[in-house]
Amino acid sequence: MINDERLIWFKGNIIPVEEAKVNVLSPTSQFGANVFEGLRAYWNKADEQLYIFKLEEHIDRLLKSIKMMRFECCYDADFLRQSVIDIVKANKYKEDIAIRQTVFMDGFGSWSSTSPTDMFIAPIAKGRQYPPEKIGIECCVSSWERISDKSLSPKIKMGANYMNSRMGQMEAMRNGYDSTIFLNDQGKVSEGPGSCIFIVRDGQLITPPVTASILESITRSTILDIARNDLALEVIERDVDRTELYIADEIFLCGSAVEIVPVISVDRLSVGNAEKGSMTTVIEKLYFDIVRGISAKHKNWLTSIYEI
Ligand code: PMP
Repeated sequence: MINDERLIWFKGNIIPVEEAKVNVLSPTSQFGANVFEGLRAYWNKADEQLYIFKLEEHIDRLLKSIKMMRFECCYDADFLRQSVIDIVKANKYKEDIAIRQTVFMDGFGSWSSTSPTDMFIAPIAKGRQYPPEKIGIECCVSSWERISDKSLSPKIKMGANYMNSRMGQMEAMRNGYDSTIFLNDQGKVSEGPGSCIFIVRDGQLITPPVTASILESITRSTILDIARNDLALEVIERDVDRTELYIADEIFLCGSAVEIVPVISVDRLSVGNAEKGSMTTVIEKLYFDIVRGISAKHKNWLTSIYEI
C-alpha cells in the first residue's frame, strides 16, 4: 500500500498497518471466519474533539456475534472498548473516520475451529460514502435472496455474510444501478447489502422488523429512537412488500458507513419526485447533529477521544 501511514491495533500491539500480517492458512483467511463491527467517529471542530458514535452498542453487538459463532475470545467488553479508543487516539485524527474492529479465527485450524481468535482494529479517514452533490441513489430489487436465519444468519455480523451482499451489489452495478435492495425468503423487503431501509408512506415512517432477515442495525435503532422521541413522528416496524417500494413517498438506506442515503428510484420507478424527501431531510439533519456532537441531545451516545 502506498503512503498508508496508519497505525493499526493488531493482536495487542499498535503497529504500522503494513506490518500487520495474518496467516494465509488461518480460518479467517480461508473461510471468512471472522466477526466485525464498522464504527464511525466524527470530528467536531468547535469542540476540538473526535466523537465515536455508539461505541457501547457496537461492542455489545460484537460480543453477540462472537457468542453466536461460538468463538472462544478472551477479550472482555472493557478491553474491546478501550482498544478502539487507544488506536483512534494513537492515530491523532482530526477528521471524520471509519473504524473496522474484527475478531478473527487465527491459527491453522478449519472452518469449525473455535480458537485461537485474535483481533485487529483499523481506523481510516472517511468522509461520506456517496458524494454529497448526489441527491440520492438508484436501486434495483435484487434477484438474489437475502441470507436468512435458517442458513447464514444476517444477525451475525460475520465476514462471510458479505458474499451475499457482494452478489447483489455486483449485479446492481452491472445493470447500471448504484445499489440494491434484497427481499428475504418470505419475499418481503429485507435490507441493502450494507444498510437497513426505511420507507415513508402517507406520512408514516416504516421499516422492516428485526425478523425480516436484517442485521440489527445500530443506525436503524437510532433513527427509530429519534424519530419517535425527538421528532414525534409516526413510526412502525412491519413487513414491507416489494411493490410498496414502487409507491413509497420517500425511501432511504441507513448504516454506520452509508449514514443516511436517499433512494430516488427503485427498478427505474421514481420514488416520490426523485428528490430527498422532507421526512428524510429532517431525520438526516438531526442524525448528523447528534453524531457530530452539535446537538445537545444524546451526548451520552458519544465517546470523546481526546482529553480537553
Ligand atoms: N445491514 C447490513 C448488512 C450491514 O452491513 C450494515 C452495516 N453494518 C447495516 C445493516 C447497518 O448496520 P449499522 O447501522 O449497525 O451500521
